[in-house]
Amino acid sequence: MKYLFGPVNSRRLGISLGVDLVPYKTCSLNCVYCECGETDRLTAEIREYAPSSEVIDELGRYLSRKPVLDVITFAGSGEPTLHSGIGGILDFIKDNYPAYRVVVLTNGTLLYRDDVRKSLLRADTIIPSLDAAGDAAFTAINRPAPGITAQRLIDGLVRLREEFGGEILLEIFIVPGINDTPDELQRIKNACERILPNRIQLNTLDRPGTEARIKPATPNRMKEIGEFFSTFPVDVVGAPRRHNEPAVAADAMNLQRIIIETLERRPSTLDDLRDSLGVGENDLRAVIDALVSENLVEVKSLERGDFYTIKK
Ligand code: SF4
Repeated sequence: MKYLFGPVNSRRLGISLGVDLVPYKTCSLNCVYCECGETDRLTAEIREYAPSSEVIDELGRYLSRKPVLDVITFAGSGEPTLHSGIGGILDFIKDNYPAYRVVVLTNGTLLYRDDVRKSLLRADTIIPSLDAAGDAAFTAINRPAPGITAQRLIDGLVRLREEFGGEILLEIFIVPGINDTPDELQRIKNACERILPNRIQLNTLDRPGTEARIKPATPNRMKEIGEFFSTFPVDVVGAPRRHNEPAVAADAMNLQRIIIETLERRPSTLDDLRDSLGVGENDLRAVIDALVSENLVEVKSLERGDFYTIKK
């Protein structure tokens, strides 16, 4: 599969088939915590980065097998709203496979544009990010492409709320020492009072980020910040939920390919891979050990466990 990946066991969404519309790593931001690594192509230019017809063909082939999924998620190794065809691809899913929920993970930076907001209106859930409302913190954390500002991002989110009838889950990624100061948290809260998200999801580092100097906020600090935002429904994002049934039983022939596709986009622990791919631990370990010994995959030890990631 060229444009689809997973399904992965997302912490927030459950069993999620990913649709990746832009080449690695094309984004309008270069966030210090990005789990996909440094942004090579920092741009706010909207264009057809992958042929929409090829993406639609691949989706049609995959979904015709009626896989058990919680959601189809536009996400991956960059910013999906940079792709000019996202609206048409979303329409294809909703017209032909309406039973699947569609989620768009976006950094929100292009939502100030009328055409981008319009292209997302058939999604069920949009998960935009807002890590900072002040320019200094925004620049320090998100390192935007020219022309992208915190104010523009916030204005786009306010207009999305006015036009979009689905669910908006606003993600705030806490970077200790940058956006957890009282002033910055208050600025973000003021912006939330204009955006009116259905829920706020507070997140902090869980996987290897772009910058080794970035550390996670402690559980106590996350709890305090959760209380600060408690005028909204707020989740401090936790461990992935477990599923009794595997999403797709990965066959042995394809297991290595599926693992590589997953790790290219998302560093994962053995538990994450086992739950999302529906394979036994022994089979999984054999493939992972082989990839590590071939120097294709490396291991990073973090608090939540050993994360496997593709060696760059
Ligand atoms: S976290 Fe998202 S918005 Fe930030 S650089 Fe990575 S892909 Fe882009």
